[in-house]
Amino acid sequence: MTLLINSLIVMTTAVLMEGVAYLLHKYVMHGFLWILHEDHHRPTGRGWQKNDAFSVFFALLSMLLIIGGSQRQWWPLVSVGIGMAIYGVGYTLFHEIMFHRRLAKIRYRPRHPYLRRIVRAHREHHRHTGQKDATSFSFLYAPARFKVS
Ligand SMILES: [Zn+2]
Ligand SMILES: [Zn+2]
Repeated sequence: MTLLINSLIVMTTAVLMEGVAYLLHKYVMHGFLWILHEDHHRPTGRGWQKNDAFSVFFALLSMLLIIGGSQRQWWPLVSVGIGMAIYGVGYTLFHEIMFHRRLAKIRYRPRHPYLRRIVRAHREHHRHTGQKDATSFSFLYAPARFKVS
């Protein structure tokens, strides 16, 4: 039973993280922390971006939850940490590697309709380089209007 509940917590967290990422992106990264997000819209070079601070923050938080939770045997906390890590892997694969071609020199043109849909949505986000005029703030989810026919 505990395993089932913790597996559900892992999956729920991974899904909810897209909502967290959306809200963070729309209201914080394009809000008062634009100073950290700006170089993602106006890249300066090929190395680290200030924007990577957000990924590092969530990676550290996830590790803290997994390690701290394991030490105290608070498995729901560990499950939340694992769910965040799973979202982090998905985000990195899609956003950093596939879309922005960072980290690995992989040129991959997705054929799967859903992948093409989220690529289209994020391309829409990057049509704007400013803080205020951006739209389409999601990462791993995109509404049907971005469907590529
Ligand atoms: Zn943005
Ligand atoms: Zn991007």
